[in-house]
Amino acid sequence: MSPNKKAANLVFPGDKLAVSEEFLPGRHAYDDSGVIKSLAVGSVMKNMKNMEISVNPMTEAEIIKPGDWITGQVETTQTNAAFVKIHFLNGEQSHKDFSGSLSLRSHSPGRGAPRGGPRPGPPVKLGDIVRCRVFSLVNGIIHLSVEEDEMGVLYALCGNCGKPMTRGGSRAKCDECGNVEQRKLASDFGQWPIRP
Ligand SMILES: [Zn+2]
Repeated sequence: MSPNKKAANLVFPGDKLAVSEEFLPGRHAYDDSGVIKSLAVGSVMKNMKNMEISVNPMTEAEIIKPGDWITGQVETTQTNAAFVKIHFLNGEQSHKDFSGSLSLRSHSPGRGAPRGGPRPGPPVKLGDIVRCRVFSLVNGIIHLSVEEDEMGVLYALCGNCGKPMTRGGSRAKCDECGNVEQRKLASDFGQWPIRP
């Protein structure tokens, strides 16, 4: 089990929970040749009286899987990745404490960008509201992508003066101070109210 899963106390189908000498498989668990494994995404529960280990599955709507889409806010950025706090899953409010990782390396700035324009920057910035596709779950990390037209930044504040930005072609512009910033904008960027 990876440190990330441990931190969230979350197990995925096939994860080892215990060995059969220690525990019997309870709900949403099974015995795979002496290894008790999980059948579900959820949290582990141990019943010490019956020596039974089971998985308390997350409700169906809260299970994130590849192909889902999420809406959230960029809460941390590093050189190569941005971490998005997930507030909506497939358009429904999510109350789980999920964060996804968006690679900033995989984003190739559009070719044919006008000369003299701002240098291509990261597709998202700290504080942006973004819509992303879940493309994989590896080691319990939710990997996100903004490659599709509908995916990307929905709402951004000007890095210069802090006012909400509007669309200026393929870039975000600030009507207040004239600042222009490179982002990967969702097709409905700048529309109000924000559609998760
Ligand atoms: Zn501004």
